[in-house]
Amino acid sequence: MQKYYKIVTFGCQMNVHESEKIAGTLESLGYKATEIDEQADVVVFNTCCVREAAEQKALGNIGKFKPIKKQKKDMIIAVCGCMVQQEKRAEQIYKTFPFVNIVFGTHNSYKFKEYLESVLNKKQKRVYQVVKEDPCLPLEVESFRTSGANAWVNIMYGCNNFCTYCIVPYVRGREKSRPMEEIVSECKKLVENGYKEITLLGQNVNSYGNTFNNGKNNFAELLKEVDKIEGNFVIKFLTSHPKDLSEEVVKVIANSKHISHMIHLPVQCGNNRLLKLMNRNYTVEHYLNTIDMIKKHIPDVNLSTDIIVGFPTETEEDFEDTLNLLKKVQYNTVFGFIYSKRSGTPADKMEGHIPLDIKRKRVNKLLALQREIEKEKLKRFLGQTIKVLMTDRKEGKVFGKTDCGINVIIENVQEFKVDFVNVKINEIKNTKLIGEIV
Ligand code: SF4
Repeated sequence: MQKYYKIVTFGCQMNVHESEKIAGTLESLGYKATEIDEQADVVVFNTCCVREAAEQKALGNIGKFKPIKKQKKDMIIAVCGCMVQQEKRAEQIYKTFPFVNIVFGTHNSYKFKEYLESVLNKKQKRVYQVVKEDPCLPLEVESFRTSGANAWVNIMYGCNNFCTYCIVPYVRGREKSRPMEEIVSECKKLVENGYKEITLLGQNVNSYGNTFNNGKNNFAELLKEVDKIEGNFVIKFLTSHPKDLSEEVVKVIANSKHISHMIHLPVQCGNNRLLKLMNRNYTVEHYLNTIDMIKKHIPDVNLSTDIIVGFPTETEEDFEDTLNLLKKVQYNTVFGFIYSKRSGTPADKMEGHIPLDIKRKRVNKLLALQREIEKEKLKRFLGQTIKVLMTDRKEGKVFGKTDCGINVIIENVQEFKVDFVNVKINEIKNTKLIGEIV
């Protein structure tokens, strides 16, 4: 009889890709995906702890399965991910949700198959495996990919930076880079299998190779090697740290065949005092010099950033500095977040937390400014014919994106298939380009 699984994923692209690996394990055991809670024989919650709200949401979701499991006694429920890597949380889940069968952390997620089989074969009724960081790289598990035209590829795990607002280094451990040959061979296979977009993933891709298990190659060399692969595809990468993005990497991008001219460079704020409090290890001046260097080598670069609004002690003047930075850089996209307390981080213990209503006002002002900048920047595409990757068809509309990640709605498509097409841009609506295939 066909068995089914359901994976509920919270958080970032790292987690989305981790879930693809869990799905890979389940598919190899003959399970098929379902969206129907009651139909699932295995349910996995892959959690996030970057914001406390995400943790509460995950706990609420897990709780909803108590009555379902009462009806379907042999359903197996597993909880994993960053939230579980915090030992107190893991213990809380294990104690308060006795219907959860498997609890495992981020460092041993590649052992999911072993834990599942142990419960399936009734060797253990429940599994609790939250381990301290292992100095070795995790074993790679075959993924069952779910992100359409795009394929995620981990190039490194963990982070050494300890930004004061961030929990990631505590739950993902120190940086570990995968060997370059292994990454290049995974990318080659993906291109052979028809993937049109490959996104190299790491918390700080620019420090690729700095840490043990590799040490021989840096990020520029890795990009060069991946760029040598033959085929019709685009390479992207996430995420860059402004203190580590080198001119060498930017030159490789500028001279490449396949690497997208989109660079996501999270600045977080435009004020030096706050950057120091955040432990970001760069100044506004350094950041702006890096932006100038990028624009010199890649004049058509598409820049995006993350901004945290309302970090503890942020004054109106400090916030104005961030708005001024936006005006100077002229980003294509800005992801603005309200600072939210995250216990276990140094920022949580700081004085001077900003009231929520002020943070909301500031983030709205920031996003309104960015919308104006974005609209202005998009005008240059009007009447142009550009290369677009068709990615989805939903409710009769076809969606795509440019090599630089700009969203496009494509009209009058006769035959939809995930592929590159040339699109003439006729209109701009909100921050989307609208055009037709030529
Ligand atoms: S660079 Fe900073 S924000 Fe990014 S994962 Fe590392 S500690 Fe967190």
